[in-house]
Amino acid sequence: MQFRGRSVTPVCFIAMCMKTDPALWKKAANFSKAVAKHAADGFERLPEEDYQKRLAVCEGTADRPACEAFNPETGICRDWRCGCSLRKKAWWRSEDCPRNHWPETS
Ligand code: SF4
Repeated sequence: MQFRGRSVTPVCFIAMCMKTDPALWKKAANFSKAVAKHAADGFERLPEEDYQKRLAVCEGTADRPACEAFNPETGICRDWRCGCSLRKKAWWRSEDCPRNHWPETS
């Protein structure tokens, strides 16, 4: 199997895909779904405290490393079910972490 000009095993391919952002078409599809859910939820946003708790899980803190799916250069979640900008998505009450890492909201 070839991935970006390199010969890789299927296991390596999956591991490499997990470290790259989802394809543009997948991001667009995921974002469309997220917007539809956000609209159905009345465009509700979380309180600042809950937003910061979510971001801390993604970006990491002094006590905890960043999530392996977090791309620090773009602020985007690399998980194939997401690909969204976390500085936007984490505000939306209707959203959740695709890996169930986010804490409960108040
Ligand atoms: S998988 Fe969850 S915790 Fe990790 S970057 Fe994405 S939204 Fe954040």
